[in-house]
Amino acid sequence: MNIILLGPPGAGKGTQAGILVKERGMVQLSTGDMLREAKDSGTDMGKRVAEVMARGELVTDEIVIGLIREKLKTVKAAGFIFDGFPRTLAQADALAELLEEEGQALDAVIEMQVDDDVLVQRIVNRAKEAAAAGQPVRADDNAESMKVRLMEYYKKTSPLIGYYYAKGDLHSIDGLGQIDEVAGAIKAILG
Ligand code: ADP
Repeated sequence: MNIILLGPPGAGKGTQAGILVKERGMVQLSTGDMLREAKDSGTDMGKRVAEVMARGELVTDEIVIGLIREKLKTVKAAGFIFDGFPRTLAQADALAELLEEEGQALDAVIEMQVDDDVLVQRIVNRAKEAAAAGQPVRADDNAESMKVRLMEYYKKTSPLIGYYYAKGDLHSIDGLGQIDEVAGAIKAILG
C-alpha cells in the first residue's frame, strides 16, 4: 500500500508517518528528512538547498524528484508513506510516472486539515521545546520562515488537494485532535 500524507507544515505528517511505520512496517519517504541529511553531509547539493530551506522556500522539483526516484529504485517495501512529497503539481505527475514504472499504485492521499493559527503555534512551540531540551532547533522553525512555508504551501502545494480529489484518491481528516485520534482517523481510511 502506498500513501501520501498531505498537509501544511506543522500538520503532524511526520508524527503520523512514524506511527504507520511502527504499526504496519511501511517505509517513510520524507523529502524534508532527505534534504536535511544532504545538508548535514555537506554535499554540494546539501549546501545549495540549505539556504533555500532555511528561508522556508521550496527546493527545485528536479532535486526532490531525483531523491524520490533513487529511493523508489533501490528500496523494497511493503508500502511507502510519502511525507512532504509531492509538494507541486510537477512532483505529483512525476510520482505517478515513477510508481507506474515500478508497477506500483497510489492507494490513498490523506489530507490533514489544521487551522493556520494552530500551525504557527505548533512550530514555534516545537522550536522552544527543542531549545529547552538542548536539541538542535531546525533553521526553518521560526515565525518568519513559517510564514514563507505557509505561503509556499497555499501557492504551490494546496492545488494538489483538488488534483487528487479529481483523481478520486483524496481523503480529508481533521488533524487537530490528539495524536491517537488522528491515527484512528487514518486507520479508518486504510483499514
Ligand atoms: P514541514 O512540512 O514541517 O515544513 P519538511 O521537513 O517536510 O517540513 O520540509 C522542510 C523543507 O524542506 C521545506 O520547507 C522545503 O524547503 C524543503 N522540502 C521538503 N520537501 C520538499 C519538496 N517535496 N519539494 C520542495 N521542497 C521540499
